[in-house]
Amino acid sequence: TYVVTENCIRCKFMDCVEVCPVDCFYEGENMLVIHPDECIDCGVCEPECPAEAIVPDTEAGHEKWLTLNADYAKLWPNI
Ligand code: SF4
Repeated sequence: TYVVTENCIRCKFMDCVEVCPVDCFYEGENMLVIHPDECIDCGVCEPECPAEAIVPDTEAGHEKWLTLNADYAKLWPNI
């Protein structure tokens, strides 16, 4: 799965949401998250993010962001 990381905070771009084929982005007050069970790992959103906030969860050091994305995707509305 792909995960959204800290560069997303207060970013106003929504290019990732537009391109996601399965609509698995969820939005809170300050950032977006990706639902890890819904993401199909297509990678389309990664280059679309102008803040470079979207990374594969396989990248080292991003375990906490995977947890955060999974937790908040259950609490926040789908967009
Ligand atoms: Fe959506 Fe593909 Fe990005 Fe996953 S990798 S969030 S399915 S655009």
